[in-house]
Amino acid sequence: MVIKYNFLNILFKKQYISNENLNLLIKCNIYNETLFKLADYKRREYYSNFVYIRGLIEFTNYCKNDCFYCGIRKSNTALTRYRLTESDILRCCENGYKLGLRTFVLQGGEDNFFTDNVICGIIRKIKRNFKDCIITLSIGERPVESYKNFFKAGASRYLLRQETADINHYKKLHPSNMYLENRKRCLLNLKEIGFSVGAGFLVGSPFQTIENIIKDLRFLQKLKPDMIGIGPFIPQENTPFANFKGGNIELTLKLLAILRLIFPHALMPATTALFSLNENILKKSLNAGANVLMTNITTKKYRNLYNIYNNKYRRKEKTLKKLKKNIYLAGYKFKVSTGNVNSTKL
Ligand code: SF4
Repeated sequence: MVIKYNFLNILFKKQYISNENLNLLIKCNIYNETLFKLADYKRREYYSNFVYIRGLIEFTNYCKNDCFYCGIRKSNTALTRYRLTESDILRCCENGYKLGLRTFVLQGGEDNFFTDNVICGIIRKIKRNFKDCIITLSIGERPVESYKNFFKAGASRYLLRQETADINHYKKLHPSNMYLENRKRCLLNLKEIGFSVGAGFLVGSPFQTIENIIKDLRFLQKLKPDMIGIGPFIPQENTPFANFKGGNIELTLKLLAILRLIFPHALMPATTALFSLNENILKKSLNAGANVLMTNITTKKYRNLYNIYNNKYRRKEKTLKKLKKNIYLAGYKFKVSTGNVNSTKL
């Protein structure tokens, strides 16, 4: 393949890009066409045209934290709160399994009701009932001992987005009792324990600068996560950022493509936030290098209550068959698989 821009050639072949060229890529759109082509080429080199679908179970919208951008923050008294029971969660898994899903993502706010014992009990039961499935947790910051317990019980992936790797920016997005250092420590702990770790950041969050974005990319390079999730910031009513401008799709797609080239092995979802801004974004996001989709298998009556931001996208494909067809029409292929990270080329 002939690549006419030398810095993109180096990025494509060596996964290296300077801050100066990152700045240029982010600001300027003339490289977009080449960038997206290269990203798609790279994802096919590592993952062929496969797309993996995860079953998302949002099992609690209680959270002890108060992140300024989040609709389920504890200060949002306008929200109706819910918790799924263990048997609710197992039923969600059963439905997901019948649809062909082999990874279940258990996501929730930082909810003290779900102690280590409760979470471990749920993990063990899922693993016992669905032996060929993988469990991903996305339940925030916990002590290292808790992470060890979850891993021992059978969870093997953990999503914990840093949201921003810049300390000053972090302080503008979070209350003073939350610490970026703690989040980074959690990510390192998870890696050391042996989890496949997912990190990522908000695109276009309030006060974000291009330097902040570059810092996030550099942080991810140090962390070397297996999964990377980025999504545009979408303001949510009843939060301090309700009237702030949201992030945009174009920059998110561009960053997805850059990430695909820096991290060719990574599992990268086309996030729900992207679909919330444009429900026809499937093809473009897969072209930009995304290779994972989430489908919400939470008990229906609670689905509308996990409002981390306004107008959250609810996938319309009633069955996986329809979603499979849309993936095929976009030029890719749904794979029934746990969809592990491709470490063969690392
Ligand atoms: S972003 Fe996460 S930790 Fe922060 S309030 Fe929302 S659910 Fe809680």
